[in-house]
Amino acid sequence: MTTIYNFSAGPAVLPKEVLRQAAAEMLDWHGSGMSVMEMSHRGPEFISIYREAERDLRELMNVPDNYRILFMQGGGLSQNAVIPMNLVGRKAQPATIDFVRTGSWSGKSIKEAARYANVNVAASAEDSGFTTVPPQSEWRLTPDAAYLHLCTNETIDGVEIDFVPDAPAGVPIVADMSSHILSRQVDVSKYGLIFGGAQKNIGPAGVTVVIVREDLIGHALPFCPSAFDFRNVADNESMYNTPPTYGIYIAGLVFRWLKQQGGIAAMERKNIEKARLLYAALDADDFYQNRVAPAYRSRMNVPFYLRDESKNEAFLAGAKARGLLQLKGHKSVGGMRASIYNAMPIEGVQALVDYLNEFAGRGR
Ligand code: PMP
Repeated sequence: MTTIYNFSAGPAVLPKEVLRQAAAEMLDWHGSGMSVMEMSHRGPEFISIYREAERDLRELMNVPDNYRILFMQGGGLSQNAVIPMNLVGRKAQPATIDFVRTGSWSGKSIKEAARYANVNVAASAEDSGFTTVPPQSEWRLTPDAAYLHLCTNETIDGVEIDFVPDAPAGVPIVADMSSHILSRQVDVSKYGLIFGGAQKNIGPAGVTVVIVREDLIGHALPFCPSAFDFRNVADNESMYNTPPTYGIYIAGLVFRWLKQQGGIAAMERKNIEKARLLYAALDADDFYQNRVAPAYRSRMNVPFYLRDESKNEAFLAGAKARGLLQLKGHKSVGGMRASIYNAMPIEGVQALVDYLNEFAGRGR
């Protein structure tokens, strides 16, 4: 049977070992006689699952003690409202939020935040067609902004910010890391808040991870829904309301898998190698094209175009026949996209590279 490799941008491939373990434990978790799905979130079984997941994520990302890890619902997009509602209250109203616009997802964040605060687009890569990150020297930052928001990996545009910028003193950096969290080493202490939907590098859709510095908690605006007030979520170990229990369980299995793989440093080395392999195949001649400036090419999401776009359908059909799935690009930009998250083995990238070479008629 053909081996299947799933290049979906999210929900995305999960480690086979994790899926196998979840299947084995599906009907009876550790002799409890219950599926994790059936457990009370307040029972000792689920509390132990939750605490281990929290502990492992803290260890993997080296999260300092003065940061809280929250497992919330609502997805990455909901945080575009939840974060302003929780963070702008530290400032006189109306507060200003600074943004750097590097693609589709930071664009959505700007639009949503404008409902809660003044937004200042400190820099935008729109003129480049979102193929680069504007140089920091050109960012027009607000000295007393409530925070500076970045999308450190633009899933659609394939642009990754690989540096931590200098924000004005006292201005926390908020980073949407939805599509590259846990793929590279990050110094959490440089950020005020890191967030991400789970459905790429963490687990199934429905879990949203928020890592937030303690002093940023407790400033929610009066109209912030109580279930989305970071104070309530943090004080109740993410159980102010019923958390997405099964998703947290799977995330916990993924964290354990990551530790077995050697942690984030080891994962990052593999991700560098996978990305190098794929971009080299795309750059070999002009049959394919990735338009992102090399310094900002994402290691996780690799959009590319065929020079002759009339071959798109044939390319996708051939890929599917070889077990290479979900390579169609996002509808807003067209073309192709290969997402190569942590759980994509190098063999999958090699299979894609072989197909890219074959379809381009190379080596004949
Ligand atoms: N931010 C980024 C970088 C994303 O890739 C996505 C989803 N693709 C989102 C936010 C939105 O997340 P969700 O669909 O979980 O709301």
